[in-house]
Order: sequence, then structure tokens, then C-alpha cells
Amino acid sequence: MTNAQLSDTIVRAARQAVADACAVCREVQQKCDEVRSVTKDDRSPVTVADFASQAVIAHRLRELDSELRLVGEENADALRATPALLEHVHRAVKRVWPEATTDAVLEAIDLGGADGGAGSFWTLDPIDGTKGFLRGQQYAVSLGFVENGVPTLGVLGCPNLSPDFSRSFDDPDTSGVLYVATLGAGVEECPADDANASATTVRRSPFDTSGPVRICESVEKAHSSHDATQQILDQIGKARDPQRLDSQCKYAVVARGQADAYLRMPTKKGYIERIWDHAAGAIVATESGCIVTDVRGGTLDFSHGRGLDRNLGIVCAPAPLHEELIDAIRSLKLDRPPEER
Ligand code: AMP
Ligand code: MG
Repeated sequence: MTNAQLSDTIVRAARQAVADACAVCREVQQKCDEVRSVTKDDRSPVTVADFASQAVIAHRLRELDSELRLVGEENADALRATPALLEHVHRAVKRVWPEATTDAVLEAIDLGGADGGAGSFWTLDPIDGTKGFLRGQQYAVSLGFVENGVPTLGVLGCPNLSPDFSRSFDDPDTSGVLYVATLGAGVEECPADDANASATTVRRSPFDTSGPVRICESVEKAHSSHDATQQILDQIGKARDPQRLDSQCKYAVVARGQADAYLRMPTKKGYIERIWDHAAGAIVATESGCIVTDVRGGTLDFSHGRGLDRNLGIVCAPAPLHEELIDAIRSLKLDRPPEER
């Protein structure tokens, strides 16, 4: 499928698929005993909801596109090895896909096994910020469509994020919000629990350089160096304490003007950012008027398989703050991998 084929029908179906996955995740989260986390080989957690969300979205995309090319974070190996876990996933999926069989669920999850690279493909993080999900805080259902290395569609479901800026990120909303961004056509926000609700345009107002800078970053310091962020804040000299929240909700929070920048400063030797952790969030931010690059100011390049192999970390902010942050990062020599500093 190419951009020319990204018709209204496809955008609407992608939005509905993400809204359905958000409903499934919400229900699993409410039944705490069913969250059931297992630990993957890289020691990160995965839950019933991660598998159920990937099954629902992959199934829907396959209905749209018989030659679906999907780069999804999860695969069904753990479910094949653990029938009890599969049964929980099956039960969660049936809320929005009543005729699903366990075999159909396994098959749908494994549709996410594509490698990415050149050309066009979908990429999915069925639950981004699983640690936030497990803590009852922020997480995102993130679906992007990439063409020739560039995201051209992003659907970002944020089931616990309130449209009300006065609410704490740690206080989960009852509806959540969902963002749909298409290249060159802007980004819209609607309630996450009603894919047919009317949407409002999200536009980042220009950054006022005289005011304080409100940065957001990961809760997990293993994912983004809190020390490096603090050095940058000290360097630019007018920053408040960073706000911390999990997942690509950070891109949305900057897009809608609730924070001024999202910094993701590398922590671990050799870590390569995963494409599904950024495709949808990055287009949501750029279509609102923000700039998204890596810590060296380089454009994110989604054409190198499952990782952003040519990039290092993330800087997302409106101009001219983005340039100021890149300059600060360079002068602090934070524009190189941790092992080379
Ligand atoms: P966040 O919620 O922003 O902290 O990001 C969650 C994502 O961090 C997960 O989806 C992981 O893919 C990713 N992740 C895991 N390890 C690292 C790491 N060492 N550096 C950066 N991101 C990581
Ligand atoms: Mg993720």
C-alpha cells in the first residue's frame, strides 16, 4: 500500500482499530488479576493487553490489506508456550472481535513479524510504556504507517491521558484521548473511547523564548538519562523541573502545548531506538508544528528495519527551542553515545 492509497477509509479504519485496542487495554487494566505480566528475553515486561492489542489491530489491518506488511513489537511465541496466558488474551480480544478463535489470535499477532526497511509498511507498539500501564499511569497504543523512511500516518491512543491540562499525568482519565496525524494534513484529537466523535485540530503555538521551558522525559531513567536532561536544563538556564510520564504520550503532550520539549537522552551502550516507539508519536508532533530529530539534529530515518539505526536519542520541540536544545546538547558533548563521552 502506498500514500496514494491512504484513503479516508483506511485512516478511519486505523483510528477505529486503535480505539478498539484502547478499550481492550482499559478493560484488562481494570481487571488487575488479568494483567499478568511475563518477562521477555530483554527483561522488559509484556502483558495480556500487549498481545490482545496487537491481535485486534493486526486483524483489522489485515481485513483492509490482504498483503499487510506490519512491523509489530510482539510475537505469539510466549502464548504458544503458555496456554493459560493465551486463554486470557483470547477472552480480552473477544470484547471487540467476538468470532476470534485462539488460532486466529495467534495468527493475527504473528502478522507483526515483518522487518520494515524500504518501501511502505505499518508499525505497531500495541502498548508503549508497559511499565506505565502496569503502574496504572500513562501508556499509548501506537500505530504508524511509514513510506520510504518517513511516517505518513500516525494514530496514537492515550487511554489514560486527560484532555484537561490541570490533571496530573498520574491521575488516569476515564476516556483518554486519541490523535490522528497525516502527513501535510495536520493532527486531530478526539476522545479515545469514541472513534466517531468529532475531532479538534491540535496546533502548537509558537514558543515564547522569554518564558520558562517545560521539559518532559521518561519515568524510567534506564530509558532516558535524567542526569543528561538536568545538564541541558542547567545549560539553557530557564527551565523548570522536568515532568515525567511513560510512553509516546510525551509527543502528544508537547504537540498540544502542555510541555515545551520531549528529550530522550541515551543511557545504554549500543541501544537503538525501536521504530514503533516513535513513528506515530513523531508525526503527531511534527504535524502540530514541532520539530523532531535525534540528539544530533538529524532527521529520524525509519528505513533501516526494526530500529532507528542511524539515529541517537530524540529531541522534540517547537522552533526556536529545538535549535537551542540541540546547541546545548552539542556544547555539553551529549551528542554522542554514552560510551564515547
Ligand atoms: P518510555 O515510556 O518513554 O520510557 O519508553 C518505553 C520504551 O522504551 C519501551 O517501549 C522500550 O522499547 C524502550 N526502551 C527499552 N530500553 C531502552 C533504553 N535502554 N533506552 C531507550 N529506550 C528503551
Ligand atoms: Mg514501546
